[in-house]
Amino acid sequence: MAAFTLRRRKEMKYIDLRLPKLDDVDFTTRERERYDALAAEAQGLLRTYENKHGRTGKGAGEAFRHLLEILLRMRQCCNHWQMCGERITNLLAQLEEQKTVDLTPENKKALQDMLQIHIESQEECPICFETLHNPVITTCGHAFGQECISKVIEIQKKCPMCRAELNDDTCLVAPQHDCGDEKADDEMDLTQSSSKLDAMMEILKATKTEGDKTIIFSQWTRFLDIVQARLDRDRYKYCRIDGTMKAPERDAALQRLEKDSECTILLASLGVCSVGLNLTAANQIILSDTWWAPAIEDQAVDRVHRLGQKKETRVFRLVMNKSIEEGTLLIQQEKRKLMKLAFSERESKRDQVKTTGRLADIQQLLRAGDKT
Ligand SMILES: [Zn+2]
Ligand SMILES: [Zn+2]
Repeated sequence: MAAFTLRRRKEMKYIDLRLPKLDDVDFTTRERERYDALAAEAQGLLRTYENKHGRTGKGAGEAFRHLLEILLRMRQCCNHWQMCGERITNLLAQLEEQKTVDLTPENKKALQDMLQIHIESQEECPICFETLHNPVITTCGHAFGQECISKVIEIQKKCPMCRAELNDDTCLVAPQHDCGDEKADDEMDLTQSSSKLDAMMEILKATKTEGDKTIIFSQWTRFLDIVQARLDRDRYKYCRIDGTMKAPERDAALQRLEKDSECTILLASLGVCSVGLNLTAANQIILSDTWWAPAIEDQAVDRVHRLGQKKETRVFRLVMNKSIEEGTLLIQQEKRKLMKLAFSERESKRDQVKTTGRLADIQQLLRAGDKT
């Protein structure tokens, strides 16, 4: 533990020295309208949740899920309005009426969206209380670690959260990227731009100098698709790594970035970079969106800064003005402070931080949006 704490502290300092350069971007009027509609809905949901939570606690779980979903949609909307996919309201309504849903293609997609929300908010497996390992979601809409829930289903044939009947593993849905069918359901118009995408292209243009290489991180492969289409159009040579790729494909992409002098851009999904990658071939980073938990971003940035990096590195972070992203940054700062605290003090304190943290985070996020 002592060794781990020391390591973590060093890393904190390391990151602090290289705070990303913020690039503020404004929404267009049309984007702002869409965003504000979501924000208003979120405010309403937060009030509902606070009421239910405060009084009986009944229905609070549902309201909280709703709330998490809309926060996801708001963040997606900051990147590109087309990413803000179908709301999962329909699924939630079905779940309220019957205990489990049939796995129609629509329901499957909605369940996967819901699972994604659980993963992104770094929830625990409700059975073993570890971070969601091999996340899956049941047809009753509860997320578990796959090993744990399979065992429970085998023995009890019931969901431990809601007692809904679950016969076997066919009641479990895995995240999208593991099925590799993500592209199939996409009907996005990839020619449409967004304020954030335009800002990104400007950075690329302005910083285009001999020998510089850029990594563009996003937490959404769908956003990488949009960026990729734009790079094609503007004739940039690029390569890409994301969660749908097998290790050899990833290696090939990294090789290209390193060896091919014309290939100057790597599109990378944030999740992938927690795996031990060496990205020192690049010296510039663009963080397209803001991840709730700073540790994942720090890790990604660290891959570029690590030993063996000879060039000066630059980090840009694209943030939409007056949006949930600004609030998320504030929370990140606090999380970094809390991490320091948590690692220097006893475990019990850390648990406290964890349990009281979530709702407070959300309240702060939406309040930050309200002031605007
Ligand atoms: Zn588990
Ligand atoms: Zn359940």
